[in-house]
Amino acid sequence: MEKANLDWGSMDFSYKPTNARFVANWENGSWDAGALTEDANIVMNECAGVLQYAQTCFEGLKAYTTVDGRIVTFRPDLNAARLNDSCERLRIPTLPDGMFLEAVDQVVRANAEFVPPYGTGATLYLRPFIFGSGPVIGVKPAPSYQFRLFTTPVGPYFKGGAKPITIRISDYDRAAPHGTGHIKAGLNYAMSLYAIDDAHEQGFAENMYLDAATRTKVEETGGANFLFITKDGKVVTPKSDTILPSITRRSLMYVAKELLGLETEEREVFKDELGDFVECGLCGTAAVISPVGRVNDHGKEITFANGLDEMGPVTRKLYETLTGIQMGTVEAPEGWIHEIKCD
Ligand SMILES: *Cc1c(COP(=O)(O)O)cnc(C)c1O
Repeated sequence: MEKANLDWGSMDFSYKPTNARFVANWENGSWDAGALTEDANIVMNECAGVLQYAQTCFEGLKAYTTVDGRIVTFRPDLNAARLNDSCERLRIPTLPDGMFLEAVDQVVRANAEFVPPYGTGATLYLRPFIFGSGPVIGVKPAPSYQFRLFTTPVGPYFKGGAKPITIRISDYDRAAPHGTGHIKAGLNYAMSLYAIDDAHEQGFAENMYLDAATRTKVEETGGANFLFITKDGKVVTPKSDTILPSITRRSLMYVAKELLGLETEEREVFKDELGDFVECGLCGTAAVISPVGRVNDHGKEITFANGLDEMGPVTRKLYETLTGIQMGTVEAPEGWIHEIKCD
């Protein structure tokens, strides 16, 4: 198959429309079968639930070309399950069994020319989402919904090496106790924009959010979970009901324990113990792991000794193993790689 004529290595993370997207609609108690469309625009009522009360949730995953030329996605079943969890919390009807994966397959196949070739570092980003499309003025769930899945090719996350970033402890909170921090809702991002712009203006790459109740425990950034490495090589990740269960983080913890034989621990991580860790990384679909060299706590700098100038050795091993699994150079645990036949 002929690939699109794009400069894969220099593309950024921005929206570029591709050939086709999947659309299904929910009305009168059920989802229709859904189909591909070339139309990238949505026409809806001005009083739609998504526009008035932000009734929407989303997912993010990628399609890759492996070393042997297959087109694959990574654990899309977990994205399907998490989307339904988000829907339940927002009173959005969940998708019927199989629809999510069917949409992934159809959309990737229709846009196979936009799946970047192996070795470019670029990927095809998939954005599934559901929103209240019907009108509501009284506060209640919308009467109708749309599920959509579009794709956009994105360049390598790290251009010219993964330089550790400096982040700050935020004075803003991301997620309330018993709130919506554990679901992938647009509303969690709308309210983070002020805090991230403010962080950037102060020269920091990201915000480290603390637990809103006590402001003593580490939660996550606006869009990625934390991994920390202790002096004796243990991999630690914060445990909290108000962080988003990252698929990348869950996969890296498995890789650490089962494939690399490292000790792992999911537990509460206190702000005051940050100085005890020697490496820190942010986990998410976009970067897999983005290394953190420093955390600024209101002017006091906490540094991660083994990851200041470049990604630390344990983080690197985790990064290389997981990206190897995704690219087909490392054997994948059963069920992690979903191949999409495109001929
Ligand atoms: C999407 C997201 C992540 C990363 O999850 P992945 O499944 O690894 O992509 C982490 N935190 C938040 C708040 C997110 O929305």
